[in-house]
Amino acid sequence: MKLLFISTSVGAFGSGVGGGVELTIQNLAQYLLHRGHRVHLVAPSGSLSPYIPIVALPGALHSFAQNSDRGDPIQFPSDSVVAAMLQYAYAMQDRYDLIVNFAYDWLPFYLTSFFTTPLIHFVSMGSVSDALDHIIVQTGRQFPRRLGMYTHVQAHSFGDPQLEVEILGSGIDLDRYVYVESPADFYVWIGRIAPEKGLEDVAAVSAQLGIEVQIFGKMQEEAYWQECNALYPQAKLHYQGFFPTEELQARIGRARALIMTPKWVEAFGNVAIEALACGVPVISYARGGPVEIIRHNETGYLVEPDNIEALAEAIGRIDRIRRSKCRAQAEKEYSLEALGERFLAWFQGIINGAGGSKL
Ligand code: UDP
Repeated sequence: MKLLFISTSVGAFGSGVGGGVELTIQNLAQYLLHRGHRVHLVAPSGSLSPYIPIVALPGALHSFAQNSDRGDPIQFPSDSVVAAMLQYAYAMQDRYDLIVNFAYDWLPFYLTSFFTTPLIHFVSMGSVSDALDHIIVQTGRQFPRRLGMYTHVQAHSFGDPQLEVEILGSGIDLDRYVYVESPADFYVWIGRIAPEKGLEDVAAVSAQLGIEVQIFGKMQEEAYWQECNALYPQAKLHYQGFFPTEELQARIGRARALIMTPKWVEAFGNVAIEALACGVPVISYARGGPVEIIRHNETGYLVEPDNIEALAEAIGRIDRIRRSKCRAQAEKEYSLEALGERFLAWFQGIINGAGGSKL
C-alpha cells in the first residue's frame, strides 16, 4: 500500500506536543514499513522521525481543541498549517492508495468528499467541541467506516449511537520496554501538564498519604503546575521532565504504580500501556480509555472518578497486583503487530471499496 499520513497540527511531529497520537503514528508507521508498505507523513516544519519519511511544511500551528469552550466557533490561524497539509495531500493524492488524517481539526473532515483518493480519519480525542462533534458525526454518517478511534467509550462521547467507527486501540514496540519485577518506593504520573489530566488530584493524594510521585510529561501549562503545588504544599510531586521513549521506560519501570486522574474522556491513555509493558500496574479513575485498558483487580484498579479517598484506598492495595500479569496483558493486547494488523484490515477494507459515500 502507498499511504500518506497527515500529522497533528498542534506541534511538530516528534516534539511530544501532540500527545499520544504521535506515539501511535510512529509505531504504526514502523510496523507498516517493516511489512513493506510505503508511508509518507506530511507534518508541520521542524518534524522529525527516525523511521518515517517526512514532508515538512511551514504554516501556523493550531491551538488545542480542548482549550476552547465547547460552543466556540472553529478558528483558523492565517497561514494555517492544516490548510497547507491538506493542499499538499490534495495535489499528491494520485500517488497514494489512501490518505489517513490524524489531525483533530475541522478542515480535513470537511474535505473528505472532495478527494478522489479515499481520505480517512483517525480521531485521536473524544468530544471536546460542538463544531468538531458536528463535522465528525456528519463525516461518519456520510462515509461509514472512514472513522477510526482508540476506544468505544471515546466513540460514544460523540453522542451518536449509530455512528460506525473502527475501534483500533493502540500498541507499542514491546521490545523497547523492559519488565521490572521489584518496585522501588515511588509512584509515577505521566502526561501533558494540563488541566484535563487532573494533576491536582494526584497532588491531593500524595499530600494525604505522603507518597512520592514522579511526574513525566510536556510542561504545557506552567501556571497550572504551580497552582497544583500551591494547593497541596505537603505533596511530594517531583517533576522529572519530558523524555524520549527509551529513557521514559527506563525511569518508570521501578514505580509501584502509574496513577491516572483524567478529568476528560481520555480517548485512550497510551501511558497506561507503556506502564503495563514495564510491569507497572495502573490505578485510574474509571473514565474514558483506561476503563477499556485496565483489568480491575488484575492489572490495576479502576476507581470512582474524582474520588480522592477511593484513589488512596486503591494505592493501599497495590501490592496485591502481580506485575507479571501487567506485562502479559501488554504482550497479548498491545503489541506492534496487534496494532498494525488492526489498522491494515481497516485500510484494506477501504481500498477494496468499503467506506464510499452514502449520499
Ligand atoms: N511521553 C513521552 N515522554 C515523557 C512523558 C510522556 O514521550 O516524558 C508521551 C507518552 O509516551 C505518550 C504521550 O506522551 O505517548 C501521552 O499520551 P497519552 O495518550 O497518554 O495522552 P494525550 O497526551 O494524548 O492526551
